[in-house]
Amino acid sequence: MDINVEKVICGMIQENAYIAAIPGRDDCVVVDPGDEYPKLERALKGRRVGAILLTHGHFDHIMAAGPLAGAHGAPVYVSEADMEMLNDAAINGYAGLMGGGTCWPRIEAAPYPGGALSVCGLDFKILPTPGHSKGSVCLYLPDAAALFSGDTLFCAGYGRLDLHGGSVHDMLNSLRALFDLPAETAVYPGHGEGTTIGAERNRYRL
Ligand SMILES: [Zn+2]
Repeated sequence: MDINVEKVICGMIQENAYIAAIPGRDDCVVVDPGDEYPKLERALKGRRVGAILLTHGHFDHIMAAGPLAGAHGAPVYVSEADMEMLNDAAINGYAGLMGGGTCWPRIEAAPYPGGALSVCGLDFKILPTPGHSKGSVCLYLPDAAALFSGDTLFCAGYGRLDLHGGSVHDMLNSLRALFDLPAETAVYPGHGEGTTIGAERNRYRL
């Protein structure tokens, strides 16, 4: 099944926000809205956002979630384990990088309702992939052979393990699980260029 995936690079950390939609539909899903709301809204070009899906709770991926949700009346989903990070600058990385302060506006979110979520015609599987944070998830669209990997898996790399909730052991297990997905799966990471499961699997001996 074909989907449209549009990358919007946002903010000083150059994180990737993604707009995912079924061709021909005027609604879409935003994965990791980033921290530059006006740019994201311009990229949406009037399309309605049906849901905002977060891969994890770090500030650079979430700060636009509040205004985006407010403007579109869209629910925000995050894992249960990363829920505590959304409005706490001490553990979502904002205070450490910025020397204090907060990542206002407040984000109202719900935990993913289980291992699957269907929205805007897209059938996501919510894969728990702890390691970069306790509640990191990858959002998998098996019908479209696409994976939104957040800061778990990058092109030629993986996410930092030294931040709040990070774990080397968990990351190894998460990468092993992701490398079991079909090789042709397109990977849309939270930073940098896209890749495929097959290309990344070939770099490691896990
Ligand atoms: Zn992160």
